[in-house]
Amino acid sequence: MYKLYDPATIKKILEESGFFFKKSLGQNFLINPTVCPRMAESACADGVEGVLEIGPGIGVLTNELAQRAKKVVAIELDTRLQPVLSKTMGEYENVKVIFGDALKLDLADIIANEFTGMKVSVCANLPYYVTSPIIMRLLESRLNIESIIVMVQHEAARRICAEVGSREAGAVTVAVNYYSNTKILFNVSRGSFMPQPNVDSTVIRLDILEKPAITPNDEKGFFKFVHAAFSQRRKTLVNSVSSVLGIEKSKICSSLESVGISSAIRAEKLTLQQFCDVYNTLESKK
Ligand code: SAM
Repeated sequence: MYKLYDPATIKKILEESGFFFKKSLGQNFLINPTVCPRMAESACADGVEGVLEIGPGIGVLTNELAQRAKKVVAIELDTRLQPVLSKTMGEYENVKVIFGDALKLDLADIIANEFTGMKVSVCANLPYYVTSPIIMRLLESRLNIESIIVMVQHEAARRICAEVGSREAGAVTVAVNYYSNTKILFNVSRGSFMPQPNVDSTVIRLDILEKPAITPNDEKGFFKFVHAAFSQRRKTLVNSVSSVLGIEKSKICSSLESVGISSAIRAEKLTLQQFCDVYNTLESKK
């Protein structure tokens, strides 16, 4: 078995296939041996048998997942890693690598075809340049999955897992909390990667809700409203929503007041339920 955490081993494997790191693909490979076993344990908890991994790199996390899951399907964008992964993952019969873009492939189809009858989770050390788009795609596609265990930049983790209604909350906080219960698992220092990035990381867990805790009249319209509300953080919600969506201020003010909220409020102060109540009231005034 390859020592995929060992920088000398990684260099040797990559040199043999003429591979060089591409910063544009977020290629920072893990060299800290304690991280992947913890991520894999969390991904394979609660009877999960199938794991969809995004961005296996040379397979350091894939290796830990393969030892715990019945089946692992890993999606990798960079086809230069094909010879590397066939070498490092060759011994596992329960690992399948699909080369493609996690933002474009039909993930629902992959899950239905590859993991029939299994409980599934998603596990990844995400490429940082597409963290939010990937997480949002996983959630919005309403995939048949139990949980998402991902490593993201520390700051992104704080925002994603912030409480809706707290200073750190943003539009992504509302969206993620709409679909899941969030939890910070553990921090990972920048020294745990090769090459070393400029930021520290955090592993988070999102447990998918069977149905959202709130019921906006129209989901798409609701998220447009939330994005507009957070678009100008220094402004009040009334001013932000009015300038982005072109809705009369008086209508927004009366919607806020009719659900008992001051019209001077900023988006970061609203709870998930309050966002929903204001949006539904505003909709009914159209
Ligand atoms: N899992 C490995 C590890 O922990 O060492 C590598 C993680 S590295 C941060 C991110 C990986 O995602 C790279 O292998 C990169 O090529 C791949 N990647 C980047 N963009 C992707 C995309 N859109 N779809 C699938 N994989 C992608």
